[in-house]
Amino acid sequence: MANRANHRVLLGCGLLCAAALLCARTIVPSVAETPARNPAISNPVTANPVASSPATSAPATPDLSIVGTVAAPNFPVASDARLAGDGKQTRFILDLDRPIQFRAFALADPYRVVVDIPQVSFKLAAGTGTAGRGLVKAFRYGLVMPGGSRIVFDLTGPAKVAKSYVLEAANGQPPRLVLELEEVDRTAFVQLLAPENRPELRPAIADANAAVGPVEASAKPTQAPDTRPLIVIDPGHGGIDNGTQAHGEMEKNLVLGFGLALRDRIEKSGKYRVVMTRTDDTFIPLNDRVKVARTLSAALFVSIHADALPKREGDAQGATIYTLSDKASDAEAERLAEAENKSDAIGGVNLTDEPTEVADILIDLAQRETKTFSNRFARLLMAEMKTTVRMHKHPLKSAGFRVLKAPDVPSVLVELGYVSNKGDLQLLVSENWRNKTVASMTQAIDAFFAKRLATAGADK
Ligand SMILES: [Zn+2]
Repeated sequence: MANRANHRVLLGCGLLCAAALLCARTIVPSVAETPARNPAISNPVTANPVASSPATSAPATPDLSIVGTVAAPNFPVASDARLAGDGKQTRFILDLDRPIQFRAFALADPYRVVVDIPQVSFKLAAGTGTAGRGLVKAFRYGLVMPGGSRIVFDLTGPAKVAKSYVLEAANGQPPRLVLELEEVDRTAFVQLLAPENRPELRPAIADANAAVGPVEASAKPTQAPDTRPLIVIDPGHGGIDNGTQAHGEMEKNLVLGFGLALRDRIEKSGKYRVVMTRTDDTFIPLNDRVKVARTLSAALFVSIHADALPKREGDAQGATIYTLSDKASDAEAERLAEAENKSDAIGGVNLTDEPTEVADILIDLAQRETKTFSNRFARLLMAEMKTTVRMHKHPLKSAGFRVLKAPDVPSVLVELGYVSNKGDLQLLVSENWRNKTVASMTQAIDAFFAKRLATAGADK
């Protein structure tokens, strides 16, 4: 048995929440230098430098350690990850360049184990985690917030974290994070889900409130409050959730680059306020995206995505605009909504703990007006986009997207195209195409608000 003194057994770190990780400056020395946490009221002066490094210039090899300008060399480096064992007991080992703190917990439905760690620079071989072993079907890793990374294991069935510890460097071996999983039955698994084992992934809301505060505070007291319509732009996925990918391009990067370009274009007119749900490579849970829109009483919510078709399902191309519906308009819309709604499971969010208030809300009379506005904007968007942008053969669809479920904020989700289609992918990484698309979307936004404001004026 290994020397106990060599172990930094951290089983008792259940209280160590992600926030504590953020505060641990000895672990994350450069956290103070990281750009302001999103979502942020956009400001050209303080705009995240990500804006000037479009996705088109992103390296072909995914490097999750690159987060805007936060690719500081100070983060611990993970150099190798491997699985050992069988379907009864499976061991995970992560090689590091220094010991780190961590918190491990299990989640149900689907069965997952989540390990929260300080922000780590993952220098792992491409494809690491795609092949499972024993109790682990697959695993993924990445940022969940500035200063915080996460590893999510998809399990083949219920399992418990029997042991978890960090070993210091010894006998020529680097420091290692070790996780030992053991098969248990469903009953035992559910009992292990202690209430304190909840992932603390609510930064978006706190920051949404914080974002409003400083902006109002910085305004001169004599100035009237900013009544310009507030538009929320929601680049899909982020951090640990890459979204669709093909030929080295990841949806999360493409849609972030597009979202930032759209923000800049909309802000130029001076007619609107814009808030992004994320301005960097960070994971944001779906409900938090909705809550940003609701908390800030947004006048419009636009979620940006890029689709992909599995090879066996043929080819498809063009942009599609989706609105919320309790019944999908066709099988493809249903498949897509299901895929997009999986984001939280991918990111390690405790789905059983998600409030159902918004998530399960039915499209009822109370939402009728919102639905009317959402549909009106979707039609305006299609009319503008089809003059400059290649559209899908059925460009207006609807399905049960969780991110569109704010009952009081007109919301649409735009799939810019298919990364699985060669022509679309060429467009998606083209700055010229992005400029044209951003311009037509801005036109649609203008048309939408021109009509809304005119109607509001008529009511007076
Ligand atoms: Zn997506």
